[in-house]
Amino acid sequence: MSDPSIASRVIAIDGPAGTGKSSVSKVLAQRVGAHYLDTGAMYRAATLAVLRAGVALDAPDDIASVVSDAEIELRADGSGGSHVLLDGVDVSGPIRTDEVTNAVSAVSAVPAVRTKMVALQRLHAVNDFVVVEGRDIGTVVFPDAQVKIFLTATPEARALRRHRQNLAAGRDSDFDKVLDSVNRRDHLDSTRTVSPLRPADDAVIVDTSDLSLEKVLDELAGLVQTRTGGAV
Ligand code: C5P
Repeated sequence: MSDPSIASRVIAIDGPAGTGKSSVSKVLAQRVGAHYLDTGAMYRAATLAVLRAGVALDAPDDIASVVSDAEIELRADGSGGSHVLLDGVDVSGPIRTDEVTNAVSAVSAVPAVRTKMVALQRLHAVNDFVVVEGRDIGTVVFPDAQVKIFLTATPEARALRRHRQNLAAGRDSDFDKVLDSVNRRDHLDSTRTVSPLRPADDAVIVDTSDLSLEKVLDELAGLVQTRTGGAV
């Protein structure tokens, strides 16, 4: 992507699971008047399609074929939310199950899956100012984004956030299992061949381990101000 007018409409927020990325990205989008896009939800919807088709997770060609036929659409709802549709049906709830979470790294490592998702994600910035959350937004999807942020935190801090979110949502949760799952997914996401999880060279890295949501937001809002010269 080399269109500078598109770059100026993108705030890229990358990082591993449990850094507070989603909460922060949603509120930041509202503050700066942008649409919020959750690209992880798209990979999760692709994974749901694969699981529903009964395809093995070690069969990349079959995965690519199912995802190629699936219609995946991300919709910002204008009030801070982001919905994902699979073949026209809102699957924002079903994509959050453990089954999907445990399978998503295998599906998102398939190159043809990434090619399709990246193309869909880029379309959103053609007309709208967007805060885009993911793993490869600053490195691959919008390498010219004006603002690039990479959130990190210790595995324990991230697992604790996820554990608390599970309990708050009324889901069963075991801290050690959550920690294992966080570590496993990070390892798979950061060692895959195509678009591994890593900060862009020009991303600002923010460690959220000991920061409240409000503190992270203040820091990010300050960064956006500086990088855009106060334009947003
Ligand atoms: O953000 P979330 O945890 O919902 O992302 C689910 C998974 O989707 C990640 O673990 C990763 O495998 C994949 N993903 C990705 N690239 C993105 C966003 C998510 O590979 N831009």
